[in-house]
Amino acid sequence: MRLFSATLATETNTFSPLPTSLDAYKEGVFLRPGEHPTDAPLMCTAPLFVARRRSVAEGFTLVEGSCFAASPAGTTNRADYEFMRDEILAQLQAALPLDGVLFGLHGAMVAHGYNDVEGDVLERARAIVGPNCVIGVELDPHCHLTVKRVRLANITILYKEFPHTDVVERAEDLLTLVLRTIRKEVRPTTSLFDCRQIGSYPTTFPLMRGFVDRTAAMEGRDGVLSVSIGHCFPYADVPELGGRILVITDNDKAKADRLASRIGQEFIAMRGRTAPDYLDCDAGIDAALAFNGSPVVVADPADNAGGGAPSDNTTVLRGLMRRNVDSVALGPIWDPIAVRLCFDAGLGAQFPLRFGGKTGPASGAPIDATVTVVGLRRDCWQSFGPTQVLLGDCAAIKAQGVEVVLIANRTQALGLELFRNLGIEPTERKLVAVKSTNHFMAAFGPIARKVIYIDSDGPLSRDYTKIAYSMVQRPIWPLDETTLPALVA
Ligand SMILES: [Zn+2]
Repeated sequence: MRLFSATLATETNTFSPLPTSLDAYKEGVFLRPGEHPTDAPLMCTAPLFVARRRSVAEGFTLVEGSCFAASPAGTTNRADYEFMRDEILAQLQAALPLDGVLFGLHGAMVAHGYNDVEGDVLERARAIVGPNCVIGVELDPHCHLTVKRVRLANITILYKEFPHTDVVERAEDLLTLVLRTIRKEVRPTTSLFDCRQIGSYPTTFPLMRGFVDRTAAMEGRDGVLSVSIGHCFPYADVPELGGRILVITDNDKAKADRLASRIGQEFIAMRGRTAPDYLDCDAGIDAALAFNGSPVVVADPADNAGGGAPSDNTTVLRGLMRRNVDSVALGPIWDPIAVRLCFDAGLGAQFPLRFGGKTGPASGAPIDATVTVVGLRRDCWQSFGPTQVLLGDCAAIKAQGVEVVLIANRTQALGLELFRNLGIEPTERKLVAVKSTNHFMAAFGPIARKVIYIDSDGPLSRDYTKIAYSMVQRPIWPLDETTLPALVA
C-alpha cells in the first residue's frame, strides 16, 4: 500500500493590505520531502506527521511531498501559488501508483486568479491519481467548504476545537478512515448542508461546547463515520463563504442527508448566541477602567494578526492615551520601523516617535508622541501552549502613561512573555489591552479578573454587515434576514 502526503496552507484575508508571497511561506513552513521534523507537526502538516508515525504498524509506504504554510495575511501571489502547487503535483505524479493521498490544507487560501485554491489543488490531484485512489483532506474549521472540494475528496475532516487543540487527533481520524476505505471496510458517503450564515464559534463557551460534544458523540455509531462543523472564515470575499455541516456515513446517502440537515438546523438555531458580546471602543475602555479589580484584559479582535490583520491599528491606544490613564499596557503593535528607531534611540531615551497606523486605511492614523523607551530586547518569543511564537526584536515605549509593546514579527498576543520580555508585568497593571480574538485566553484568561471584548475599527470587524463583500452568495445571515439553508452536496 502506498500513500502520499503534502501541505499547502494559509488563511487568506482578501481584505488585508498585506500580500502573501513565497517569502511568507519561507518564514512559516517551507519543507521539502524528508525535511519535516519528527517531534511535532507544524502549521497544517499533521496528516504527514501522523502518517509517518503509523506507516510501519499499518503496513504502508509513505511518500512525503513538500509542506508549505504561511501565517494569515492577504491574497497569495499567483505565480508563487502555482509554483508550490506544481511542485506538489509533480511529486504526486512521480509517486504513482498510489492507494491514498493525505492533504493537510487550511481551507481558506485564496491566490490571485483562484477563489478556491483547495478545489483547484484537488481537481488537479484527482486528474493525476484517478478515480480509485482515496483522497483525504484535513481542514481548519475557518475554511470555505466548497461543493467542488468536498466532491473531489473522498474524506474531508475539520478540526472540532476553537482554539484548535485537536489538529493531531483529527489527522489520526483522517488516516484511519482513509486506510479503512482503501481496505474496503467502509465506503464514505458525504452530505454537505449549507447553513447560510456567517459567525464566530469559540468552543470555550458552553453553547458551542455542547454542540461539538453532541455531534462528535455521533461518530463511530450507526454507520456515521464523521461529522464536521464548518465555521467559515468571514474575512474573505469568495462565493461559497459560510457555515456548512459535513457528514460522512458508510454508504448511506439518505442518512448522511438527514443528519447533515438536522445538525445544520441546530447550528442555525444558535445564530447570534455563540460569540461573546463586543463593546464599542470607548464603552469598552470605560468599562475596563471602572471595574474594581485588576488586571482587566481588553481584547481587540478586529486587529488580530491571526486573522490576517496588520496589528497596527491605533484606535484603542488613542482612546487610552486620551484618558490620561496610568498602569496600562498594550500590545502588540507591529511596526518594525518604529522598533528600529527605538533601538537607535536607546533604552531610557525620550524622543518624538511616529508609530502604528501605517499599513492601510483600517490601521487608522499613526500616533505622533514624545515617548520614553522603557524596554528593548532582540529576538523575542512568546509561548502558545507548548510552542514558541517568534516576535523578533521588540521595544517597549511609554506614551502618555500607556506602555506599548512594538514588535518586528507580525503575530497576535498569545503569551505573557509579550510583555514580560520587556520588563512589563501584566499582573501588576490595571488594564492590559491585547490584539487577538480568542487564542490570548490560554495565557491571559487565568490572570484576568475580567475580560472585555471590543469591536474596534480594525480590519476584522465583528459586525459582518460592515464587510464590503461583493462575491459572497446571498442571501446569507446576518447580511440578510431571510435565508434559504439547504443540502448542497
Ligand atoms: Zn482557524
